[in-house]
Amino acid sequence: QDTVLGEGLAREGGAAWESQVAAFGEVLGGEPLEWGRLANEHPPTLRTHDRYGERVDEVEFHPAWDSLVRLGLDARLQSLPWVDPRPGAHVARAALFMLLGQVEAGVGCPLSMTFASVPALRAQPDLASDWIPRLTSGDALCGMAMTERQGGSDVRANETTACPDGDGWVLDGHKWFCSAPMSDAFLVLAQAPAGLSCFLVERPQRGFRIERLKDKLGNRSNASAEIALDGAEARIVGEEGRGLPTILEMVNHTRLDCVLGSAALMRRAVAEATHHAAYRSAFGRPLAEQPLMQNVLADLCVESEAATVTALRLARAYDEADGPFRRLATAVAKFWVCKRTPPLVAEALECLGGNGYVEESQLPRLFRESPLNSIWEGSGNVSALDVLRALAREPETSEAFLAELRLAAGADARLDAAIGRLEQELVDPEARSARRLLELLAVSLQGSLLVRHAAPEVADAFCASRLDHPGGVFGTLPPFLDHAAVVERHRPCL
Ligand SMILES: Cc1cc2nc3c(=O)[nH]c(=O)nc-3n(C[C@H](O)[C@H](O)[C@H](O)COP(=O)(O)OP(=O)(O)OC[C@H]3O[C@@H](n4cnc5c(N)ncnc54)[C@H](O)[C@@H]3O)c2cc1C
Repeated sequence: QDTVLGEGLAREGGAAWESQVAAFGEVLGGEPLEWGRLANEHPPTLRTHDRYGERVDEVEFHPAWDSLVRLGLDARLQSLPWVDPRPGAHVARAALFMLLGQVEAGVGCPLSMTFASVPALRAQPDLASDWIPRLTSGDALCGMAMTERQGGSDVRANETTACPDGDGWVLDGHKWFCSAPMSDAFLVLAQAPAGLSCFLVERPQRGFRIERLKDKLGNRSNASAEIALDGAEARIVGEEGRGLPTILEMVNHTRLDCVLGSAALMRRAVAEATHHAAYRSAFGRPLAEQPLMQNVLADLCVESEAATVTALRLARAYDEADGPFRRLATAVAKFWVCKRTPPLVAEALECLGGNGYVEESQLPRLFRESPLNSIWEGSGNVSALDVLRALAREPETSEAFLAELRLAAGADARLDAAIGRLEQELVDPEARSARRLLELLAVSLQGSLLVRHAAPEVADAFCASRLDHPGGVFGTLPPFLDHAAVVERHRPCL
């Protein structure tokens, strides 16, 4: 049972999917937990040639991976809001995605990219009518290839070329990172005569070679490849020279999923830590009853709850086509929630002592996964600079963001003071202090959401420790707070 997720699902508009979400959680708590372990202990391998020396470029996965992908497709993580566009569908999908992410994060990558490719493909109606039904039904997967050897943040420096060829195009170049390379199609950026443009490249084809798979820190169940494009046949998506805005339609949605994925990792780590501490004794008493451990656990729970409420509120912004708020909140949440995940997972791991450092506990897997969402789809600084760009070019974004914060005005003096500081910092933001601004934007949003929606002890702990006197490590909540009550709200009841 996940109280915070359940409350958020109903509050943000996903009540119609409550039973589906609960049933999915039930399923995931069984055999799929073991599939997650297996898929990571048996990572994919690349088979480049067949016995006759012909290129085949096939990625071979453990059956556990296939089972997990199938679970995600059956839950319509690749399509829910596109095929069932009732209000709340994005929130429902978010809850489902966060449940799967607690069991296995790697499969989130192909599911997320396939889901996110749909709005980008709409820029090209003939391709959309051909591909969107295949992608939403789960018959095909779509990946994305932007990053090249010389740079991923600055994709305008892409060197891959696109030349017109009959009705289509031909692409030549390379892509340094291309995850889920077994997909059926990819959205690829390349330089056309009129500038950087977006293309759909189908696989398999001779012009698309998988050179090798990356040996990654984590995310090991998922394949990430280096790709050679050697006369690859392609079709343009959107207007020539408008590749960046076209693919940003996709990237916005994968950024939402980075937030969901990181909130899911936090939740899994907190579930493991609170469960362990409830049953492990030291010095004659359960760890969960010892005041200092209670403070650490409560602090972790507060962070996890803040991430979950932020993720679900952000998902609602996608349901409501909530333009300016969504624009700013996506970048702010991508920066903050993803950045907070590695320290949280590290501290949760330590709650299990030496056992947390051992693979069987699954915490090492979470720990290795935890930095990734902050890197791909725009690394931390790129998100921070994106926020500055939005504030400068679209002033309505800060108005919409502040309006959301002020919904809690007057409810907590510490939050009011933080919003006041933020209003000053927003006056003339500059790059060198962008991270400070992002942090204040993020904790003000989280404070506003928690004050309005969380249990009073959680909101109080958040405001005291994140807005009033921020501490450097977890476990520094003020002593007068009800730590045990916070932990109890988050401990899984088995
Ligand atoms: C496991 C994995 C899978 C991936 N899968 C894909 C995929 O499927 N498709 C794809 O296209 N890409 C993929 N990527 C690539 C990923 O999106 C890039 O790694 C990321 O965008 C950063 O680009 P880069 O690695 O070239 O780093 P760089 O662009 O070189 O950046 C290095 C650092 O500099 C910072 N930085 C950059 N510009 C500035 C600036 N102006 N001011 C201050 N700091 C700055 C960045 O934030 C970063 O911390 C994947 C990456 C990983 C790790």
